[in-house]
Amino acid sequence: MREDLNSWDELLPEALPTPCFVVDEDRLLANLAILSSVQQHTGAKILLALKGFAMFSVFPLLRRVLHGVCASSPHEARLGREEFGGEVHVFAAAYSEDDIHELALLADHLVFNSFAQRDRFLEPARDCAAKAGRSLAFGLRVNPEHSEGAVPLYDPCSPGSRLGIRSVVFAGRALSDISGLHFHTLCEQDAAPLARTLAVIERTFGEFLPGMRWLNIGGGHHITRPGYDLPLLCRCITRMRDAYGLDVYIEPGEAVALNAGVLVSTVLDVVEADMPVALLDSSASAHMPDVLEMPYRPEVIHAGKPGEKSWTCRLAGKSCLAGDVIGEYSFAAPLQAGDRLIFLDMAHYTMVKTTTFNGLALPGIALVENGSRALRMVRRFGYEDFKTRLS
Ligand SMILES: *Cc1c(COP(=O)(O)O)cnc(C)c1O
Repeated sequence: MREDLNSWDELLPEALPTPCFVVDEDRLLANLAILSSVQQHTGAKILLALKGFAMFSVFPLLRRVLHGVCASSPHEARLGREEFGGEVHVFAAAYSEDDIHELALLADHLVFNSFAQRDRFLEPARDCAAKAGRSLAFGLRVNPEHSEGAVPLYDPCSPGSRLGIRSVVFAGRALSDISGLHFHTLCEQDAAPLARTLAVIERTFGEFLPGMRWLNIGGGHHITRPGYDLPLLCRCITRMRDAYGLDVYIEPGEAVALNAGVLVSTVLDVVEADMPVALLDSSASAHMPDVLEMPYRPEVIHAGKPGEKSWTCRLAGKSCLAGDVIGEYSFAAPLQAGDRLIFLDMAHYTMVKTTTFNGLALPGIALVENGSRALRMVRRFGYEDFKTRLS
């Protein structure tokens, strides 16, 4: 945690309704400063991956540094076009004809995941864009078949992966009308895995690089994590620019919002099982699903590992799912109904993934504003948000 920023305890008013995501503009700005330095040193363009973080009330702030967004669907592309501005780059594992008609009017770069999709949709997309007086650049996502030890769920280079075109499929293909290559193979990784991946890309797809104008190195770069090897990232980018004359794009999601927000919860009850279980007004399943999907144990302010402090318990969500369990923690004193807990690093891959399972209320979204440091409730959700997704 950065020492020069206020602690979350100081920033959150006692009366804050929970559950609530709180994002701190100063922490976002600290991340942006690092991303900006990468752009300045290398000339790379950094895009926000909306899949990971799409809190559009802070887009004006992010837009000071970032060049645009990377979207995975027409809805994300539209949000990027309407609320972010700048460049809109789109990749999806497969497009439908309707997707293409929408995206042709929204995207600047459209990346295909197969030659079949390119053959079917490149011309219709280009024509549709041209009719609207726009131009569209086309790319192909490649699969370097080089895994960097990611969790299998998050490894697009696993043997069964459907993501990216393998080099063997490129044999004998003309790449006319394709101006760039894209890969996305990392997850929460440092620069050394990127350097090794780029070496594989050069070995397997090197013959195509001189004919390209741009290279998109995807997301999964943990650029804003303390200790990340920034000089190596910059050397990697500069090498691809110098060797092949490529414009380099990076599209982090997590790194933009890393450590920039929390989820604030309240203890509702404590029951006894094999150990005390504190039930919260938030849920792993509905509000922080990566806790179950990754899985991982989120950090909680003032809590230790089990056994570290005097009272150990399990924190669990209020849904009916038996496995709606966040993890085991210890506290200096037993938790009681009404106590507030602060889960750290909850800005990314949370509000973009929430559900209303069990009819649970969605967490509110609040912002600690840069300058005044005042907390502003940006959005609260209610019954209508639950009902309008059903019929
Ligand atoms: C998920 C994803 C990203 C962002 O990944 P992070 O791990 O959040 O940096 C970027 N590009 C593509 C194609 C993705 O699927």
